[in-house]
Amino acid sequence: MEKLENYINGKLIAPLKGKYIDNYHPATGKVYSLIPDSDAADVQLAVDAAKAAFPAWSVTPTEKRSKIMMKIASIIERDMKMFVEAESKDNGKSVHTAGMVDIPRAVSNMEFFATAIMHYAAESHIMEDTAINYTMRSPIGVVGCISPWNLPLYLFTWKIAPAIAAGNCVVAKPSEVTPMTAYLFSKACIEAGLPAGVLNIVHGLGGSCGQAIVEHPEVKAISFTGGTKTGAAIAATAAPMFKKLSLELGGKNPNIIFADCDFENMLKTTVQSSFANQGEICLCGSRIFVERPIYEKFKAAFVERVSQLKPGNPADEKTRMGAIVSKPHMEKILSYIELAQQEGGKVLCGGKRAVLDGDLKDGWFIEPTIIEGLAYNCRTNMEEIFGPVVTIMPFDTEEEVLTMANSTMYGLAASVWTENLTRAHRMAGKIQSGIIWINCWLLRDLRTPFGGMKSSGVGREGGFEALRFFTEPKNVCVKLK
Ligand code: NDP
Repeated sequence: MEKLENYINGKLIAPLKGKYIDNYHPATGKVYSLIPDSDAADVQLAVDAAKAAFPAWSVTPTEKRSKIMMKIASIIERDMKMFVEAESKDNGKSVHTAGMVDIPRAVSNMEFFATAIMHYAAESHIMEDTAINYTMRSPIGVVGCISPWNLPLYLFTWKIAPAIAAGNCVVAKPSEVTPMTAYLFSKACIEAGLPAGVLNIVHGLGGSCGQAIVEHPEVKAISFTGGTKTGAAIAATAAPMFKKLSLELGGKNPNIIFADCDFENMLKTTVQSSFANQGEICLCGSRIFVERPIYEKFKAAFVERVSQLKPGNPADEKTRMGAIVSKPHMEKILSYIELAQQEGGKVLCGGKRAVLDGDLKDGWFIEPTIIEGLAYNCRTNMEEIFGPVVTIMPFDTEEEVLTMANSTMYGLAASVWTENLTRAHRMAGKIQSGIIWINCWLLRDLRTPFGGMKSSGVGREGGFEALRFFTEPKNVCVKLK
């Protein structure tokens, strides 16, 4: 069975204690490879390598850093099929999703920050004829990047790219649930000639390997994407050490549909925003609020479309709904469907584990599920499920839907569907979310600030925000006379 390796100091190496964790193939429920079960000693090696690489990398000309990053992007592009198949196999997502979303976006992340750094200018503030201030922005040093399993290489590169572009050296940990493309990425870095120690990828469990990165005194900043509870634990460790922190956490996003919307466009996108990637995207709209005059029409059309969406073999090009990432996660989602029914919800479609044939009979599949009849503030509507489960609820007024939309502890993303421009702007101003989509969903411009408010996170990623996070500003004031 294939054994993955850590990428430390430019080399692929086994974990020091020789311990491994099983890596599962979600579509069959079987173990198919082994992941290093790294601990603090492996993290120490990675930090030492990163620290040693920092003096040279931090003064490597931007053009050179940029070229290496572009080379890494081109290797992923060249090996697109291999990366797509690996991501699909490891995560359970369809090759369609991995090929349309995950891997192309990982390439874009590398290219975007490789070019962004070339255009990143320092600010200057002039005090008439008294003084000139200019702000230097220097790389921080050794930084930690920790990412989740839902968009594995996509989110891994979204952190690593700005960190190394800005001149930092990185110790990174992908989710142990989906380590494969990070491993392939380490091979691409070696081939591209990324200097040893600039990026170190340590595989292992959150509580041991992840925690060791967070609490290491030489790791000066942590960029984390994952669950809100984990984010709180990381903040508790990192804050007393005054580390810079960027936390992208959970969500429970509202999708608000007014009666005057472009119905067909809204319906097509709402199927996507509810069930893309099996609902395992932090930006999926899981609470759907529909203005009462079109509630019944929407319900009938939505149930009809979603009923056609069948979980299938992720490796099949035609499949649009793959497997759930892990058995515990599947069980968590099923327990929420049960809870919804206990809370008075009626399952309109789906609601069960889907059992496929042949090799896939033990795979972790769930039917796309729509639930109605729940109070907006019940647990099902307050807690993140992170799977193919949405609730639908009618509303009568803007005030009412705003109260319902803003009622959770989360504030990551929201969609609003209306042809009324002034209402769209009014709603955008009042919804408590870091990202608002009007008449669209997941339309991403990598220059824009990305992230959530309330318990959905601290700080923003994307564009120059990310480069600002990964640099330390220093103001220099020069008196003119
Ligand atoms: P987790 O919080 O469980 O894990 C995220 C990462 O942190 C994993 O690599 C995990 O390792 C690691 N980790 C766990 N505990 C610690 C610790 N104490 N110290 C350091 N690292 C640790 O999230 P999931 O992987 O389950 O991802 C799903 C969550 O991510 C959802 O809540 C989702 O909303 C959120 N998310 C947010 C996004 C955003 O942009 N706001 C985007 C995508 C997802 P291990 O895998 O071993 O547990």
